[in-house]
Amino acid sequence: MTTRTFAATLDVSTAMIDRDACVFIDGSWRKGEGAAAISAVDPSTGEAFAQFKPASAAQVNEAAEAATRAFASWGKMGSAKRAGYLRAFAEGLRARKAELVHLQMLNNGKPRFEAEIDVDDAAATFDYYAGLADQLDADQGRPVDLGMDGLAGATYAEPLGPVALIVAWNFPMVTTAWKLAPALAAGCTAVLKPSEFTTLAELVYGDLALEAGLPAGVLNIVPGAGDVGAALSENRRFRKISFTGSNATGARVMTAAAARAVPVSLELGGKSPLIVLEDANIAEAVDIAAAGIFFNCGQMCSATSRLFVADKIADDFIAALVEKAGRLTVGGYDNPDAEMGPLTTAPQFAKVKSVFAQAQADGIECLTGGKAVEGGRGYFVEPTIYRNVPQDHAIWQEEIFGPVLALRSYATVEEAISLANDTSFGLAATVVGTDRQAAAAVARRIEAGHIWVNTIQVIPPNTAWGGFKRSGIGRELGPWGLSAYQGIKHITQAA
Ligand code: NDP
Repeated sequence: MTTRTFAATLDVSTAMIDRDACVFIDGSWRKGEGAAAISAVDPSTGEAFAQFKPASAAQVNEAAEAATRAFASWGKMGSAKRAGYLRAFAEGLRARKAELVHLQMLNNGKPRFEAEIDVDDAAATFDYYAGLADQLDADQGRPVDLGMDGLAGATYAEPLGPVALIVAWNFPMVTTAWKLAPALAAGCTAVLKPSEFTTLAELVYGDLALEAGLPAGVLNIVPGAGDVGAALSENRRFRKISFTGSNATGARVMTAAAARAVPVSLELGGKSPLIVLEDANIAEAVDIAAAGIFFNCGQMCSATSRLFVADKIADDFIAALVEKAGRLTVGGYDNPDAEMGPLTTAPQFAKVKSVFAQAQADGIECLTGGKAVEGGRGYFVEPTIYRNVPQDHAIWQEEIFGPVLALRSYATVEEAISLANDTSFGLAATVVGTDRQAAAAVARRIEAGHIWVNTIQVIPPNTAWGGFKRSGIGRELGPWGLSAYQGIKHITQAA
């Protein structure tokens, strides 16, 4: 294997970064015919390390046509046979783990342990949906007792058809697996649009399709920046659009889908709460709070970015959390001890720095951080904690997508729950407390799609992922993620 070495520590296979052809249509790699080349940037240095040509509008349409043709047979293939392809994807990801980990470290800025989790999660998702696909055909034709003499009913879960999958840059391969695995398991064919910032890791799915012998057109990949997403969401061939990203773009996807009454799944932003109850073990709560906002440099839709701590333990907890944040090792892949990497993109770096400037201008109390890491290259910022941010301030209300925590103390649990729910988002939440039943009771009252009690954020593939309120529409993962790509057909017949 030929590799390129970065900062003497990171070897990345040239096959994964120096790709001549990045558009995958109808079972083969094509040269992109889009206008401007896209650069892949290393956020630890801010320098481009590869360039690739995106898909043109005509190629997007070709991909949609290929997916439409392939659906005719893929949707009718035995589900256990489809499961075999999914298992091959999982195995292929595991076989490439070392290379993919390095690519993630290079292009996303993830510390090694985070990049490893990503590859494992993506593979586990394919395995999980292979298991559901195994059972799918056996579950078809489920009888329904109509309670009417001479009539029998049965239901069938049918694949929707060709679907467009538009994914973000914060967990490449993972959020793709959450869409692609259930879509293929259900019998849908797909056109995938990777984020322009982290396209290279997503291209591995084209390699895996070839290696697994996936029928041509079942998976197509159209990289792009600026117009490919809109071309996909407006293409009349797709029977569903699944999108992960910002609320603003999610609204555009939904508008395009509305014109054709096509269903959407939207996985959008969050401003998730973490409630530390007064009986919490402080050391444990500190670890959970830090992981909830500093993992992936805070670039998580599920980041617990608003923290509420009981008055009784507030001083001790805040002191310990600030101390932990100050001790976190921030660094790139040239530092094996790095616990938090850089922000992944230049726009995100600019956005987080503008938040710091706004906080300073508005006199928000900053307990630690509040600035970019000085004297270096790349998109590094300090782990940051603000206290008593006014409730109408953007830092309290809006998703930042960076390692920026806003905290306040509370007098009563009722007050904490009320403040936690006082948000337009509803994706995730965490509750920490020693009395497990009391903590679980608080969790039940939080308006969010996924809640952790006394644990860091783990998301096994058989859970449900998605939000209430502005955080999105629909659920990924679990059986709900599969049904997102199915339509129900009911047959009533004379017995
Ligand atoms: P966006 O969410 O705005 O998404 C950009 C992607 O959407 C690109 O792939 C783009 O492709 C595509 N797109 C743009 N317009 C359309 C359209 N009309 N129809 C379909 N697709 C379209 O991501 P950003 O990177 O700009 O991130 C901005 C903010 O989004 C972050 O600061 C963060 O707050 C949030 N975010 C949330 C994530 C989550 O997990 N929920 C993940 C990532 C970001 P093209 O340019 O080719 O059209």
